[in-house]
Formats: sequence, structure tokens, C-alpha cells
Amino acid sequence: MIKFSEHTKPIIIAGPCSAESEEQILLTAKQIKNIPYLSLFRAGIWKPRTRPGHFEGYGETALQWIQQVKKEFNLPVCIEVAHPHHVELAVKYNIDVIWIGARTTTNPFSVNELSLALKGIQIPVMIKNPMHPEIKLWIGAIERMKNIGISEIAAIHRGFYYYETDIYRNKPLWQIPLELKTIFPDLTIICDPSHIAGKKEYLFELSQKALNLGLDGLMIETHFNPSIALSDKQQQLTPAELHQMLSQLKFLDPHSNDPLFNNTLQILRQMIDEIDEELLNLITKRLNLISQIAHYKKEHQVTAFQLSRWKYILQSRKKLAKELHINEHFIHQLLALLHEESINIQNKILNEQKKESSQHQKN
Ligand code: PEP
Ligand code: MN
Repeated sequence: MIKFSEHTKPIIIAGPCSAESEEQILLTAKQIKNIPYLSLFRAGIWKPRTRPGHFEGYGETALQWIQQVKKEFNLPVCIEVAHPHHVELAVKYNIDVIWIGARTTTNPFSVNELSLALKGIQIPVMIKNPMHPEIKLWIGAIERMKNIGISEIAAIHRGFYYYETDIYRNKPLWQIPLELKTIFPDLTIICDPSHIAGKKEYLFELSQKALNLGLDGLMIETHFNPSIALSDKQQQLTPAELHQMLSQLKFLDPHSNDPLFNNTLQILRQMIDEIDEELLNLITKRLNLISQIAHYKKEHQVTAFQLSRWKYILQSRKKLAKELHINEHFIHQLLALLHEESINIQNKILNEQKKESSQHQKN
């Protein structure tokens, strides 16, 4: 049985979005079987389609093709399950690892039903993040699997749905898998750049970022001929493209044993600690000035929000940021945060005035 925490890193999972024919499964497996670090072959047997009328998978028939992959190429295999009946069939066909898809993680009823079906079965389970960025649903699904005694659990980061269109199909929101890591420090987290990207040209940059952040592996949709794929055509790589991409990625270590590196890192971190202390002191000074201004505005009955001042702050600081080569978007976010706090403080002080005056009126 695969043990995620002890497994060689990175864990690479590849295979088509959907199992479409025996030929497609066996040809794809044959062409990827020798790819370095390949740990698991993936394929969707039941496909969750947002709208009806699209290919929904071949179900049990496809499980026979997946079994062939195990037999012929000695490759462990994984499939998505969304229903207790899927779990039953996964066990019947000796599937090595199962995963819970993003749409299922979103629904605690479904996750609970799956956990009941998995009780007493020792099969590794990978849990994709829910469709929307509600980390508690992800945590909840992991807890439900832990509670019924599943010992091998991994999380899969596949990005989050959002309404506006952007370059990626799903927003990565990297801080969410990183937060998950702080909650479950020993949890294996694998990135699925295919479903984040939606297009194969973004796979390299997303995969490298996942590795740079210290995620433990990659799940990459791979099809022997993506142009004929029945689902997620645009985001699948050919085996040769997968091979090439993996050979260009830099795999980083979480630590180094080089004493010079560790010493230098420690010195630089101390410098950052000191700068952060200075920053906090400066922020305190700024906040004190804001309280002073608020009291002054209160005396003169002037509003907290001043559009022209806010515009001036944004414009002048962004100009300076540009000169200093600091990312403008970052400075905008930082100023917006400072401004929000400034408005809150002023509002509080102005409200105190209201309370006092309503007290006066009562008396
Ligand atoms: C898939 O892996 O093919 C899939 C349907 O993924 P997700 O649940 O992340 O949408
Ligand atoms: Mn897919």
C-alpha cells in the first residue's frame, strides 16, 4: 500500500482526465510508464459534468481497462469516487488509491456517505479542495477520513472556482494549501496544475510554483492524443510533453545541510525580524496619528472618508513604489488594508461622539 509520507518526492501522478477506451488507457500508460518519479496512473471512470449532455465516463467497463494497467505495466492506479457504490467497485477491482473530487468535497453529506462506505477498508484516500475557497470543508473531509480510520490521506490542491474569467481556469489561492499545511504539518499535499491551468501552456509555471512552495507532488492529466480527448482536451499533455516538462522542472529540497547556507540564512532572518519590529513600531505611530486626526475631525464635524486624500495617498505611494521597483499591486493592497483600519478607527471615534451627544439629548 502506498505510504504518502514515506514516499519518494515528488510524487508524480499522471494519466488521462477520463478513461475513454481500452486502447487510450493502455497506450497512454505504455508511453508514460518509464517517466521518472511516476508513482500513480490516474483516470476518471465516472466524470462529474457540470451540465448534462457531456461524456460521463464508462463506469465499471473502464475499471477493467484500469486493471490491465496494473497487470501489464505494474503501475499502481487511482480513480475518483463520488458515491458508496464507486467505493465498492474500486475495492472489487483492486484500485490502489482513490480520490474525492472537488465537487464532492464541497458537500459534507456526500463526504460522510463515502466515509461510511470506507469504514473498515484500508485504502489510501486523496482529497481535492472544495470548489470554492472554504478551507473548513477541506479540513472537514480530511477529518471525516481520519475519524473512520483511514491511515493514508493526502490532499490535492486543484484551485478554486471564481466568477470572473482570468488566465487560469481556477484561481490557485496558494495561501489556502499552505494554511492546510500549518493545520496538518505531516499531510502530503499534491498540486493538480491541470485543473488550475485549464490550458497546457500554464502547466510549467504552476508546477514550478507548487514545487517552490514545497508541495509534495503533481497530478498532471496526460493523454496519448489530447486532441481526441472526451473531456478537458485543452489542459492535457502528451506523454512526450510530460516527460519534457518534468525534465525542465527544478525539484527543491525543504532544507539544506550546508552550514554556511544555514548560517547566512539565520543572519538574514534576524535582519528581517528587526525590520518587522521597526515596521510594527512605524505602524503604531501611523495609527496614533490617525486617532489624533479623528478627534480633530470630530471637533470640526468632518467625515472620516476623504476621497481626495485617499486618491492622493494611492497615487503618490504608487509612484514611489514604481521608483523603488516594488510591485504596484502589492502596494495597492497594503495601502487598502491600512486605509481600511484607518477608517475603522476614525469611525469608532466618531461614533463615540454620537453616543455622547445622544446621551446629552436624553439628559
Ligand atoms: C479530475 O481530476 O478529472 C476532476 C474532475 O477534477 P476536479 O474534481 O478537481 O474538478
Ligand atoms: Mn479533468
